[in-house]
Amino acid sequence: MKSLIITTTHSGKINPNLLPLVDAATKISDYCDVLIFGSDLATASIEAATISKINTVFTIEAAELKNPLAENIATQLAEIAKGYSHVLCAADSTGKNLMPRIAGILEIGQISEIVKVVSPNIFKKFIYAGNVLVEVESLEDIKLLTVRTSNFNSKHEPANQNAKIVPIAYKNPIHPHIKWQSENIVDKSVDLSSAKIVVSGGRSLGSKEEFDKHVRGLALKLNAAVGATRAAVEAGYAPNDCQVGQTGKVVAPQVYLAIGVSGAVQHIAGMKDSKIVIAINTDQTAPIFEHADYGIVADLFDIVPELTEKL
Ligand SMILES: Cc1cc2nc3c(=O)[nH]c(=O)nc-3n(C[C@H](O)[C@H](O)[C@H](O)COP(=O)(O)OP(=O)(O)OC[C@H]3O[C@@H](n4cnc5c(N)ncnc54)[C@H](O)[C@@H]3O)c2cc1C
Repeated sequence: MKSLIITTTHSGKINPNLLPLVDAATKISDYCDVLIFGSDLATASIEAATISKINTVFTIEAAELKNPLAENIATQLAEIAKGYSHVLCAADSTGKNLMPRIAGILEIGQISEIVKVVSPNIFKKFIYAGNVLVEVESLEDIKLLTVRTSNFNSKHEPANQNAKIVPIAYKNPIHPHIKWQSENIVDKSVDLSSAKIVVSGGRSLGSKEEFDKHVRGLALKLNAAVGATRAAVEAGYAPNDCQVGQTGKVVAPQVYLAIGVSGAVQHIAGMKDSKIVIAINTDQTAPIFEHADYGIVADLFDIVPELTEKL
């Protein structure tokens, strides 16, 4: 059995999702390679090579991959995937775009968002908005897996001997008509998916100004990422990529602060693996308190400024 992790870089360094992916891959087999694609991979590949349990770090580096698009690399990656029993990607926007294309090209099934490796063939994942945890068995020759990285360990030992770094030439894109246009990063705060602390706000903030003042203000003090309920996003208080929940992002930080969040089942689906949940809500019967380790029944407009000032 051989596992291959496919990943990109983050600000020129290894993507933080690589470490939990290595944890997942090495729970499957002892043999693990990493493939990084993008441009300027020198720092990231050297960094990846120092992580223990990695055999080889392959790189596909090209100026055209500065902003890599799944459409333009999936065919080449599908060819490489044929040499492995397991291929893993983070269940982030890159992995969710890439892995189904590889599955389509290879005409095999994919298992999405695994949270646990039971055996090399059996994986645990949630269905029904996180309400049911199922075990899925795959009989495919190549298991294509996207991984909820927050459910795996990010700690790693430095390697006794660094992994080999092997460049692979980028093949010309199969879809030359698909080009990167531009990127508009709406939220420049801490990355939500990998944040240790998340401060989330709900509809009760009442306006974008109040949301920024209270939720962002507190997040800034705590060096935390900003999250939001769908109601807050739809009201325009926060951008879409802040949404936590069934139709937003799944997070599992050390601390999750839910400010004026009711705790609807669709929101809980995105944050229930948080280690410590702190809820502030005026309604003591709000469902969020059923999931909270610490609850404050109070008006957020009183409590949050006081908390922010004390911090
Ligand atoms: C198919 C589907 C998918 C969905 N996906 C998502 C998803 O991904 N993420 C998501 O979040 N939702 C999702 N929803 C919506 C979800 O059902 C809820 O409507 C939403 O989460 C409610 O957001 P809220 O808690 O901000 O608002 P509300 O339900 O309006 O709750 C506001 C809360 O704030 C409290 N409050 C009011 N004033 C104050 C104050 N001054 N101080 C403190 N507390 C106060 C209230 O007591 C209340 O509990 C989805 C719904 C559907 C149907």
